[in-house]
Amino acid sequence: KGDPRLQAISEAIRVIPDFPKQGIMFQDITTLLLNHKAFKDTVDIFVDRYRDMEISVVAGIEARGFMFGPSIALAIGAKFVPLRKPRKLPGDVISEAYVLEYGTDCLEMHVNAVQPGERAVVIDDLVATGGTLSAAIRLLERMGAEVVECACVIGLPEVKGHSRLNGKPLYILVEPR
Ligand code: AMP
Repeated sequence: KGDPRLQAISEAIRVIPDFPKQGIMFQDITTLLLNHKAFKDTVDIFVDRYRDMEISVVAGIEARGFMFGPSIALAIGAKFVPLRKPRKLPGDVISEAYVLEYGTDCLEMHVNAVQPGERAVVIDDLVATGGTLSAAIRLLERMGAEVVECACVIGLPEVKGHSRLNGKPLYILVEPR
């Protein structure tokens, strides 16, 4: 990809070694949010990609998917659907568990948030193993929505190489530095 904006986006992401534990190179997107140009370019790239794809749902993964998803949804004329950690959503929910390095976690979605046949994009800040995005895809598909693509600002090289997840296209802006 020869987009000159991507270099500045990559450089705006701060890397913090050994957070939240030893051996993790934490990709901190809060410094991207502090940089108006890089933040706007990030949202604009996603908006340009999805505006003519008849997307009616942008689903954001708690918590950092909430920092990009709503701006994209508003700009492309879609609704925003939060996919949240357990026991946060007050209405009727469906749940999907996913495997972490140690143990499992779970994402939930309100049952009436999407209608069958709606076309959805799933947004998060970063994809590592793809476990979190896979749970998000399952939630939307259980409600009859069509997941058109998953989009992340950062993709670890191993998953980027695949560029697909559960058979769904994966769209990544940058790799970790
Ligand atoms: P995975 O399910 O393995 O693809 O992990 C992706 C989720 O974990 C995303 O919600 C990320 O925000 C978070 N995550 C995993 N690794 C990192 C990392 N190195 N830096 C920041 N966030 C991470």
